[in-house]
Amino acid sequence: MKLQSIKGMNDITPVNSGAWKIAENLLIKILDGYGYQQIRLPIMEKTAVFERSIGDVTDIVQKEMYTFEDRNGDSLTLRPEGTAGCVRAILQHGLLNQQNRKFWYIGPMFRHERPQKGRYRQFHQIGVEVFDLEGPDIDSELIMMTAKMWEVLELTDLRLEINTLGTVENRKKYSRELFNYFSSHREKLDADSINRLERNPMRILDSKNPALRELIDEAPRLDQCLDADSQRHFDKLCEILSKANIAFSVNPHLVRGLDYYSNTVFEWVTDRLGAQGTVCAGGRYDGLVELLGGKPTCAVGFAMGLERLIELCAQRLNRENRDAPDIYIISTREDHVAEVMLYAESIRNVAPDWRVICHCGGGSIKSQLRKADRSEAALAIIFGEQEFTDGTVTIKPLRNQAKQFTIEQSKSIAALKSFIR
Ligand code: ATP
Ligand code: MG
Repeated sequence: MKLQSIKGMNDITPVNSGAWKIAENLLIKILDGYGYQQIRLPIMEKTAVFERSIGDVTDIVQKEMYTFEDRNGDSLTLRPEGTAGCVRAILQHGLLNQQNRKFWYIGPMFRHERPQKGRYRQFHQIGVEVFDLEGPDIDSELIMMTAKMWEVLELTDLRLEINTLGTVENRKKYSRELFNYFSSHREKLDADSINRLERNPMRILDSKNPALRELIDEAPRLDQCLDADSQRHFDKLCEILSKANIAFSVNPHLVRGLDYYSNTVFEWVTDRLGAQGTVCAGGRYDGLVELLGGKPTCAVGFAMGLERLIELCAQRLNRENRDAPDIYIISTREDHVAEVMLYAESIRNVAPDWRVICHCGGGSIKSQLRKADRSEAALAIIFGEQEFTDGTVTIKPLRNQAKQFTIEQSKSIAALKSFIR
């Protein structure tokens, strides 16, 4: 039987890897441009890092983590998200003391979910975390930066939804109100929501069960429990976004899956991906740093799912991905391999941007030329019997009617420059 990859963990083959590379490069350029610094984190952490931060009532900790014991009996977990590990690293290395406290990361995340379109067991995120800035200015910067990302990816159909969760106290009050409301409709709840009712009734609002839609729509709203500071923070954020011409809608039921959020939350959503329509989600998590053992430090961040995002623009990016070689080098004499390989290196040295393929594996000139042509290379460079004797090469344009010509090896590279880009 042929070996298969693990269900929900996908290979990204050259069919799509070009689109991934372009998208990642565009996004990273923006992060760099806004002055954010990359942090590279391990793919595994001690399980406690996630249990303590993500909270044991979330789907992630309750049923989605890949947790196992290593050979020493330590409990380790493949990271289901990037924030917890990032905060752990920031504290471990004292990075809260440095001037720049804006970070980004990229990489695979692991969740044991039911695989379906847009929902995988290994998926990729780009995430951002910013520490120790408490105003709505930084919240709006993150949202404006993501809007810029959609612009460079030419995605025009993403909607922004925002909400505020207020402070921990606001939420406690709201939680009680929700508890009363949902308890009085207990018979309409599904098993999942009954479980959430006892532990964290706000998470019922996050339910994806369409049967609960109406009940959730009529639930009390958090804005009635907001204190004045939280309200001001939110109003200011809305004002900045409006001035920046970023359209948004306030969704009072947007609560996010994780427990450590406070004040601003936001999601970018599309209708083009069916049920898995959220491509980017973020918000404030002012309580988390303290929870993981640091001094009380506010924080805000987001994470975007690259599979969902790239699905939206893969076709166009694949068309843009130019991976045809510029030069395809072929030769007739196997006893002169070294000369050919060194010639190829000399081209790469003077023109590092060119794509230079050395035909390996021999064969007749005819079959090598056929391969050169199929590679869609602009030029073939041919080392034939005569060329080896004379110290020349023959340059054969493959994409137009221009005539082939033979030229001294030492002069050939300058001649190539007039052909390529
Ligand atoms: P969902 O409500 O879709 O389960 P979530 O609230 O669990 O999402 P976050 O933890 O906020 O998601 O992750 C941020 C983003 O990462 C999501 O908006 C989505 O784009 C992406 N993402 C999350 N889980 C998956 C997954 N299993 N497969 C693919 N992408 C995912
Ligand atoms: Mg989820």
